[in-house]
Amino acid sequence: MSVARFWRETLRRYNLGGSRCTDCKTVYFPPRSVCPHCSTHRRSIGRMEAFQLSGQGEVFSFTVVHEAPQGFEMQVPYVLALVKMVEGPTITAQVVDVDPNSVEMGMKVRAVFRKLREEGPEGVIQYGYKFAPIMRPVAGVHPPSDSEK
Ligand code: ZN
Repeated sequence: MSVARFWRETLRRYNLGGSRCTDCKTVYFPPRSVCPHCSTHRRSIGRMEAFQLSGQGEVFSFTVVHEAPQGFEMQVPYVLALVKMVEGPTITAQVVDVDPNSVEMGMKVRAVFRKLREEGPEGVIQYGYKFAPIMRPVAGVHPPSDSEK
């Protein structure tokens, strides 16, 4: 992939630009050109519109990865989660800025732009989105409850 193409793709992903079917209102990410729900009647052709995801969602399921694929070694252990966006689509991505042990289903998260990996001796760095917890508005840093001790 060329550098220009890489950045175009990265920016698109970072911006979480999806698409929405104007017929049934289903949101897709990555964007689709045809809505599978409506495609049986070929109604969705030409009815998809660009749709900007908010980047907010919640952890639908997750796994803690201890053995990373090549290029991710420095990040273990890390949390790989299926995040259900508020608009509907689910996105698989890393959850960061949190102790892997405190990630739980239903945890509110938001997309952040982070380094994904470094490649080769030149240290080519790839960026993309990850998800970070949305802190409670008032709580900030809260003391551990009894159940967490
Ligand atoms: Zn549709």
